[in-house]
Amino acid sequence: MSVVLSEFLIPGWADGEGAPAAPVDGQELPCHFVDPELFFADTAQELEEAKALCQTCPLQRACLDGAISRREPFGVWGGQIFDGGQIIATKRLPGRPRIQAA
Ligand code: SF4
Repeated sequence: MSVVLSEFLIPGWADGEGAPAAPVDGQELPCHFVDPELFFADTAQELEEAKALCQTCPLQRACLDGAISRREPFGVWGGQIFDGGQIIATKRLPGRPRIQAA
């Protein structure tokens, strides 16, 4: 089975059919060992957990560069949160924003 770099960079890809049983080329990618939904979660706490996992990843820089070049629409990639192709500091929670007191 050949693996292209873009396949490395998709959280959870290794869970699917044909996934390698051992780390690919000696690289253990943290996102291959957790629920991929963590990287696309709705809560700030879960997204921070995903970002923390990326901090230990040997491909963090390449993953981040790839996500920037692809303008990832959402998710945690390379230790950053993406929304609409942009890196954002925190994800806005679903629902309406609170009404500000006048
Ligand atoms: S930087 Fe994060 S999302 Fe990218 S491959 Fe590593 S663990 Fe997975």
